[in-house]
Amino acid sequence: MQEGRVIKAYNSFFYVLTEAEAGQELVTCKLRGKFKKSRRSIGVVPGDRVRIDRLPDGSGVVEEQLPRTSLLKRPAVANITQVVLTFAAAQPDLHPLLLNRFLVLAEWSGIPKIVICVNKQDLYAGDIGAFLKAYEQIGYPVLRVSAQQGEGIEALRQQLQGETTVFAGPSGVGKSSLLNRIDERLSLQTGQVSEKIKRGRHTTRVAELLPYAGGFIVDTPGFSAMELTELDIQDLPGYFPEFRPHLDACRFAPCSHTHEPDCAVKAAVAAGAITQERYDAYVNIYEEIKENQKIA
Ligand code: GDP
Ligand code: ZN
Repeated sequence: MQEGRVIKAYNSFFYVLTEAEAGQELVTCKLRGKFKKSRRSIGVVPGDRVRIDRLPDGSGVVEEQLPRTSLLKRPAVANITQVVLTFAAAQPDLHPLLLNRFLVLAEWSGIPKIVICVNKQDLYAGDIGAFLKAYEQIGYPVLRVSAQQGEGIEALRQQLQGETTVFAGPSGVGKSSLLNRIDERLSLQTGQVSEKIKRGRHTTRVAELLPYAGGFIVDTPGFSAMELTELDIQDLPGYFPEFRPHLDACRFAPCSHTHEPDCAVKAAVAAGAITQERYDAYVNIYEEIKENQKIA
């Protein structure tokens, strides 16, 4: 048996990239019949690690799906290790609330590494250094790049080594331009993968993993800032890493950290350990989720 990574699933074929001593090999596989039926859940998806048996004709059969470390649902991709949240320094402007909505989504998704990437540095003459530094202090690496001028691209390439990365962020910030700068082959491939499966009125996007620098880049937009309302409001404070040390110290439990007295989170804001910007984003998202749950 060989171990490999599903990089694409299409029409019940699974394309598995195997690591052999001779190098990588792309094997076209089918799923073992009984294995397929025994899984009630989502099944084998791109990004999954699998064990395959080879057939005499060179094709393969997926015999086993190995445990996942993460799962992104729409479209389904497993084992993403890193998300690069991409924004522009200008055109469109970088709004703190939008950045924070994406950060919360990224924390919620359970993807281990979250990186902030600010593109279009060439368009911005002001200083967003202090603004971004606050996010670095929380623990998010910040990369400042220009897809157009090439600034910071080498650092971004380094950041991708060995990881399975998805690029997320608003449209128009330059995600496709960045992929093109990182490696021309990536943009060619992302251009090609506009394959869509049409089922009635619904159109499902199929994700594909593009091998790059010992890892992969996933050719989907990751997630959009619109999806926050499905989040469980009790979990929200934990998605702000710098809130975590304070969460057990509030007088009330649970504490929403909005109106309660003797709230340790609000005390930390007053003491400067949590920025007002982050706290305001928390309250804003909290109220939005709450409003939606009332309606539902
Ligand atoms: P996406 O929607 O995030 O994939 O964004 P695109 O890659 O399509 O880029 C949107 C627009 O921004 C295009 O007109 C690009 O030429 C432009 N753009 C991308 N990167 C840069 C950059 O670093 N500097 C400038 N000035 N424009 C850029
Ligand atoms: Zn509190």
